Amino acid sequence: MNRWGEKRYHSLDYDLKQIYHEKVYKITLNGGMTCPNRDGTVGTGGCIFCSASGSGDFAGPKTLSISEQIARGKQELNGKRPVHSYIAYFQAFTNTYAPLSRLEQLFTEAVQDEDVKILSVATRPDCLGDDVLELLGRLNRIKPVWIELGLQTIHADTAKFIRRGYELPVFEKAVKDLRALGITVIVHTILFLPGETKEMMMETLDYLNHMDIQGIKLQLLHILKDTDLAEVYEAHPFPVPDMDEYIRFLGTCISHLNPQITIHRLTGDGPGSLLTAPLWTSNKRTVLNTLHRYLKEQDIWQGKEYYG
Ligand code: SF4
Repeated sequence: MNRWGEKRYHSLDYDLKQIYHEKVYKITLNGGMTCPNRDGTVGTGGCIFCSASGSGDFAGPKTLSISEQIARGKQELNGKRPVHSYIAYFQAFTNTYAPLSRLEQLFTEAVQDEDVKILSVATRPDCLGDDVLELLGRLNRIKPVWIELGLQTIHADTAKFIRRGYELPVFEKAVKDLRALGITVIVHTILFLPGETKEMMMETLDYLNHMDIQGIKLQLLHILKDTDLAEVYEAHPFPVPDMDEYIRFLGTCISHLNPQITIHRLTGDGPGSLLTAPLWTSNKRTVLNTLHRYLKEQDIWQGKEYYG
């Protein structure tokens, strides 16, 4: 069995401790972007599950500069424990969707902070033009750059239902372009999207197992207040898993996942105040402890059933 410290899966914490010899904390930043899936370029309503803050509910206020947001993030984290290393995480909306000069200014401000070890940028694969790639490649030579792409699913019908707004080949090109620059690619997936069977979710995972990606987020679908998804859910409630079902399915995912791929997330990460369902996910610690117990009981580890 592979071992990644205490865990039975290849966790982000494990990787970071190997490289930086201490825990590295994320500071979630808001660069004041919007999204082509909201401003009419690709769509107007955004992805069906996306909250008003552009899935950046924990990001700092956009009225503050990036340096100010980083200083604030450091202060908050340091109040609880001594911290020396950070990931500057641009989370809200689409973080490569702005004029190049603006992106350069925002990202440079982040990487110039000596305690920031990694620049992490969440974006869409259709917002990585040549000029943006060139900038990211340049920054990656200063400090490691991670790009997080919101794929959610490989299935075209589901992608249409969630209004993702791009086709799979766009994602494939983005991964290829980023990897040609040596940039770390993390893929965001959503489990238990309406209409998806477990077989379909496993197909997404199998597909990603064979892509040149370095990290994955497995996020349980969160139905957040004031989203179009919440309206659909109220009008026609669709099944959402209970914790037991989710844990069992995560066990299957972990067992089939390529052990080279680092797991960045295994639960949801929505704000409790906006969560409509499933409410049990708000207790993240309980979910993770139950998962760890389950993996041990069932003798599951990442890649146990991955055969290349
Ligand atoms: S691409 Fe991201 S920011 Fe844009 S609507 Fe979808 S989830 Fe929200």
